[in-house]
Amino acid sequence: MKQDLALSVSGLAKSFRRDRVLDDIYLDVSKGEVVAVIGPSGCGKSTLLRCLTWLEQPDQGFIEVDGKPFGRALTGDTVRHQSRRAIDAMRPRIGMVFQQLNLWPHMSVRENIVRPQMVVLRRTREAAEARAAAQLAGLGLADLAERYPYALSGGQKQRVAIARALAMDPALMLFDEPTSALDPELIGEVLALLRDLAATGMTMIVVTHEIGFARQVADRIVFMDAGRIVEDGPARKVLDSPSDPRLASFLSLIQ
Ligand code: ADP
Ligand code: MG
Repeated sequence: MKQDLALSVSGLAKSFRRDRVLDDIYLDVSKGEVVAVIGPSGCGKSTLLRCLTWLEQPDQGFIEVDGKPFGRALTGDTVRHQSRRAIDAMRPRIGMVFQQLNLWPHMSVRENIVRPQMVVLRRTREAAEARAAAQLAGLGLADLAERYPYALSGGQKQRVAIARALAMDPALMLFDEPTSALDPELIGEVLALLRDLAATGMTMIVVTHEIGFARQVADRIVFMDAGRIVEDGPARKVLDSPSDPRLASFLSLIQ
């Protein structure tokens, strides 16, 4: 059973000073599953994704990616130090696309995709360039290769950011509100790409306010409130018959 999991999170907790921002998070994601994470602003969605990639150090909990331990948060610097190597080895297995500021402004699109492959995965320039070209072509972005980020629309930037993450061959992809900084007319092109990506069987966790998208594309919806997962189930069930009153009121506000 466990070997079919792309991600397994147990007992994850995170506080900023006295504020407990994540509390007792358990989340298993099967390979190929698409999970939408929804919830009010400030409920801990971004912090959860950041803890999954160890951009934020969790205070407690255990994370497995592809059946291998990614990190175990225990108090004490020794333990943190020991898990450093495991963290560095596992981090490239998770691709992350943020709301904005995904690309290096001083590099062309091609170089944005080539560099991380060379630096993190130690691919040769030839291999990295071949992969970048194939990835861009596969997403219909080949003609953007020589452009610089300033010459891209917001939607193009996000699609290039997704191409860059995919070129690293991640075991799973995390998206933190990938369309929320976009003008309305550009949202569709990014959601279409996410939909295509889901159809290829990529394992994805998408934090989003796009409920229509979540309904169509997500296998599961996780609703968070005040640092906890309050509801977790099949998309239709969660959206159409919310059992928790906080979810019902959240949905009535955003739909
Ligand atoms: P969401 O993404 O759901 O809007 P966040 O995960 O960004 O929520 O934030 C959850 C809570 O943690 C908020 O109260 C936020 O102010 C707080 N928070 C997030 N990052 C930090 C930080 N680096 N330092 C202190 N507080 C933070
Ligand atoms: Mg957020």
